Amino acid sequence: MTDLFAISERLIDRGEGEAPPAPFDFTLTELFEGVARVNAFSLSIIFKTDEGLVVIDTGLKNGGPPIVEAIRRWSNDPFQTLIYTHGHLDHVGGSAAFLQDSKSNNHPPPMVIAHENVPKRFERYRLTNGYNMVINLRQTSQNPNRTFLGEGNDLFLDQSVVWPNITFSDHFSIKIGGLTFILHQAKGETDDHAWVWIPEKKTICPGDLFIWLFPNAGNPQKAQRYPVEWCQALRQMAGMGAEYFIPSHGWPIQGADRIRKACLETAEALDHLVGDTLEMMNRGCTLNEIIHTVKVDPKVLSRPFLRPLYDEPEFVVHNIWRLYGGWYDGNPANLKPARERDVAVEIAELAGGAESLASRALKTAEKGNLRLACHLIEMAALADPENKKVHGIRGEIYQQRRKEETSLMARAIFNQAEMDSKKISEEK
Ligand SMILES: [Zn+2]
Repeated sequence: MTDLFAISERLIDRGEGEAPPAPFDFTLTELFEGVARVNAFSLSIIFKTDEGLVVIDTGLKNGGPPIVEAIRRWSNDPFQTLIYTHGHLDHVGGSAAFLQDSKSNNHPPPMVIAHENVPKRFERYRLTNGYNMVINLRQTSQNPNRTFLGEGNDLFLDQSVVWPNITFSDHFSIKIGGLTFILHQAKGETDDHAWVWIPEKKTICPGDLFIWLFPNAGNPQKAQRYPVEWCQALRQMAGMGAEYFIPSHGWPIQGADRIRKACLETAEALDHLVGDTLEMMNRGCTLNEIIHTVKVDPKVLSRPFLRPLYDEPEFVVHNIWRLYGGWYDGNPANLKPARERDVAVEIAELAGGAESLASRALKTAEKGNLRLACHLIEMAALADPENKKVHGIRGEIYQQRRKEETSLMARAIFNQAEMDSKKISEEK
């Protein structure tokens, strides 16, 4: 057993603690006979078969070449097949490097298998290129490199990404060199997800249906996610009797009981959120009432694979509302709203000006009510958008807010607001 399994064994058996961050150093580890993974932001998982290598996920664009190099130090077999667990860039971005390798070794190009919604996602990325560039910058605002995409790129979906040449809708089963790869479609994080079952190896590759963090089912800036189907997929995986579980992020897990526990506890947490949210929706509550009422037990959130460090339950509630209810939040003023700036000017005038609204926001923040403080400071800044004093306070409030949040998604958005205001307040 490699050390990687020891990490997950310790965490799951103890049931608490934080999973250590996985290094993105492109080292290859053979997990067991003929099965390896390469460390990267999103991993590549490689199976040796009698017909060549089958690779599940290809990493980011910049990750592709070092991942291929690492694999080549382990095996010179041709890349027979690439499987995408879904079409996110960190799973498909490195695909060109695999194709390039086949070309330079005079191997036939690999088959590329993915769910039928992966090409549709790629088309959507073209349609929303600008939006995706904006949110990508915002989401990586705390990262000094500021991008997943590589320097000087103006396309979110790089031209080099290899489109699948075999797609499927529900299930897809293929035998390659003595191993069977059974792909199960599973809406969850995305509508194009598939988890892979390799019966001869008693192995599941769940893609991002298990990420060693609270499920990314709420992402505020991204397309719809599907928590109910996500639970179903987790329960189905839990029932397979798998001995090995190799997610595309974080640590691999060995042992049927451990795998079952990790999947079922994650399903239960999501199930609970869906149930409580629907119960309030069915009583006619507003979105605002629901997000202030529905919570996940902090004990559950302290599980090493359910920490809300990337996404968080409150955002999942929004997605459940959007999925079952639509975008109207239950506040009639929001149905056909005034311009935000007009509201802000009116309130600032009532408060005696944008600066006094801003100082009230600061006092509110000092008392610890950062949610309320942010509403007040947003109105102050909208009412007087060039006011350096107002932006100075806004920057301070969002800095404080960012520090108190746990999820990367919340911190990134608040960090961007802080940076925007600091820029204005520090302008000469
Ligand atoms: Zn991913």
